[in-house]
Amino acid sequence: MCLIELKGLEKSYGKTKAVDNVSLQIMEGEVFGLLGPNGAGKSTLISMVTTLISPDSGEIVIKGNSLRKKTGEIKKLLGLVPQEIALYPTLTARENLMFWGRMYGLGGALLKERVEEAFELAGLKERAGDRIDSFSGGMKRRINIAAALLHHPEILIMDEPTVGIDPQSRNHILETVLKLNGKGMTVIYTSHYMEEVEFLCSRIAIMDHGKIIAAGTKDELRKLVDERDIINIEAANAGNKVVEILKAIDGIVNASAEANTIKIIAQDAETVLAKVISTLDRERCKVHSINIEQTNLESVFLHLTGRALRD
Ligand code: ADP
Ligand code: MG
Repeated sequence: MCLIELKGLEKSYGKTKAVDNVSLQIMEGEVFGLLGPNGAGKSTLISMVTTLISPDSGEIVIKGNSLRKKTGEIKKLLGLVPQEIALYPTLTARENLMFWGRMYGLGGALLKERVEEAFELAGLKERAGDRIDSFSGGMKRRINIAAALLHHPEILIMDEPTVGIDPQSRNHILETVLKLNGKGMTVIYTSHYMEEVEFLCSRIAIMDHGKIIAAGTKDELRKLVDERDIINIEAANAGNKVVEILKAIDGIVNASAEANTIKIIAQDAETVLAKVISTLDRERCKVHSINIEQTNLESVFLHLTGRALRD
């Protein structure tokens, strides 16, 4: 089911078209990725969906209702993790979450329960009584995410939640996204990190200069690039005979062997891999290692824009 529909959204700042005629559908229960370089318009788009700014034109429909008409009702369904950390440095982590919980209309025993649940999720229970200014960047991020979940939103919107943090917190955040999604939460995940979006998201929109330049599943996006996957296999007895058998496999474009390394060029590595391995096994080529170079979202972006995704 379509949960969020964006129709022809536009937002300009002076002469800059920050968001330029964006139409998208986000389905219930998915992790939807919004991938684009700095300045692409991701935060501006997120700000319109979360009612922080209003669009110049276009419409946002959430669960069949126009956001413009039913703002209050719809806002309760949304949890926003903003790009800029929104915490009071001199208050403790618990005081911060209590504050945010009250902003969401929670109180009493329920508020306390939700705050403890949030610390559990952030993995920072033992630091609840410490001041925010004693936290690392990654820990602040995790509290920021916890704050967005206090009112149990149906949709979590995360704007570049892993920029400039330590790998441990980054992994914790990525796992948290998967955990929440596993419980049925719909997530919109904004990032300029291709690997994160590729790891987390079932469907992805690539944004550049305010426009959605491509959208679809990973496979659909990869198909936009006329590139092939490369499979490198180190195996014993890799000779001409096995190469000829491999070449005949449907989906394999070419194969060659040199010094016990087989190089296979395939339309899609994943679909031919099982056949390749069973062939090698049958031909008594003992496999020592396999390395797959797949077309990734970076190559898709490069193909569509002529530029690299990274600054
Ligand atoms: P992203 O989040 O993808 O990095 P933004 O949505 O922050 O991109 O910005 C998109 C474009 O809009 C950029 O060119 C940025 O400079 C401009 N922009 C964003 N917010 C404002 C603002 N409040 N005032 C003026 N220009 C803005
Ligand atoms: Mg941004």
